[in-house]
Amino acid sequence: MYSSLNSLAVNVEKQGPRKPAKARFPLRYGKYSEIKTPEYEFIFNLNGEIKFIRGVNANWPHPDEQFKRTDGNDWVYYTVGDDSSDKGIISWLGEYYLPCLPYQSNTVWKIDYFSNPAVMNAFGAWSQLYADLYMAPKNRFHSKARELIDSVLENNDKVLHERSQKLHSITGGRISVLPPDTRHVDYEIIPLNIADGCLFHCKFCCVKSEQQFQTRHQTDIIEQIRQLKAFYGRNLENYNALFLGNHDALAADDEMIPFAATKAYEDLDFELYSENPLLFMFGSVDSLLKAKDQLFEEINNLPFYTYINIGLESADPQTLKFLGKPLSKSSVEEAFKKMLNINANYGNIEITANFVIGEGLSAEHHQSLKDLLRDASAASCRKGTIYLSPLIDSPKKRELLPLVEEVKNVSSMPVYIYLIQRL
Ligand code: SF4
Repeated sequence: MYSSLNSLAVNVEKQGPRKPAKARFPLRYGKYSEIKTPEYEFIFNLNGEIKFIRGVNANWPHPDEQFKRTDGNDWVYYTVGDDSSDKGIISWLGEYYLPCLPYQSNTVWKIDYFSNPAVMNAFGAWSQLYADLYMAPKNRFHSKARELIDSVLENNDKVLHERSQKLHSITGGRISVLPPDTRHVDYEIIPLNIADGCLFHCKFCCVKSEQQFQTRHQTDIIEQIRQLKAFYGRNLENYNALFLGNHDALAADDEMIPFAATKAYEDLDFELYSENPLLFMFGSVDSLLKAKDQLFEEINNLPFYTYINIGLESADPQTLKFLGKPLSKSSVEEAFKKMLNINANYGNIEITANFVIGEGLSAEHHQSLKDLLRDASAASCRKGTIYLSPLIDSPKKRELLPLVEEVKNVSSMPVYIYLIQRL
């Protein structure tokens, strides 16, 4: 035990860049703590909760790969895939990594890291480190390192699990899906639910809630923010983004978005720590079409750059019917046009859109999508990514890549694959 303790390198507080940035290597941002053994690097947030594990031994699959633990307590393995060039993951996802999720999702690449002992040994190493720290004599480390180790020991696996449940109970349930745009902050957002349920209950959807749509009361928002502040504690300063949930925040009562965003900005310390914070939310075709200019004026004037992601799904009537999405072709086209207009006219708002792809979908669906994206060029103004979401029950997902390539090639807007992730 002493020899392993002697080989630990403890760094109580390090400062990385303030914000997440896209990089080919595992960039650490914000303030964090680090404990290194000869074989692994363990990164902790400011509350002493384990955040990343990266192997530095010869068996580790790639020096840029690592595990990340989310606030929902999922361990996600970040892989560079089998092609780390510009033609690999980055060209499909807009990011350098593919998050491999420990739950079912709509991923195009199935990478079975569970059966790779070189990867899974990381968890054994984490348990070993925990045991070593637990058994270490009290006077073995200087006082600051001792404080870090005490807080690491307080956050054992049971506590981390309970904390994720606490987060879910604050927002009124687990966030079943995050907007694709949250990739810009590596899915690190503070969730604040301003409305529950959906306007639609689409047949194809694997993340919907059964609730009728309802905006929450302002008192509920104030209480969530109070509890979120206590929950995140010292680590609050490492967040640069807010997610207003749930599935259709844009449909919430008009005053709710400005109220909740402003209150969160002030009370969750975005004002203190974040220079250009981001705000994310989902909208629907109906809520986008109904939203008045005044609402967009108010969102545009918030101290956030706001991404609103809209599920358009298809511009083909038969496909909309097949998906059980109660929309007409003309309303989808109208929403698409409105998206382009808002992107062109509001400097602090960016609307993005999702369309489905899948093996069983018709040639008409794919053709109508290509037509829509080809004709969008004039007004696209370099904003408004298009996300293609593989249907969750579509077999052979990797075979969809040539189709994605075809859509990319005709589109004047960036096109990426949407990977459904929860919190
Ligand atoms: S696709 Fe969107 S609107 Fe439809 S059920 Fe799912 S979350 Fe709700």
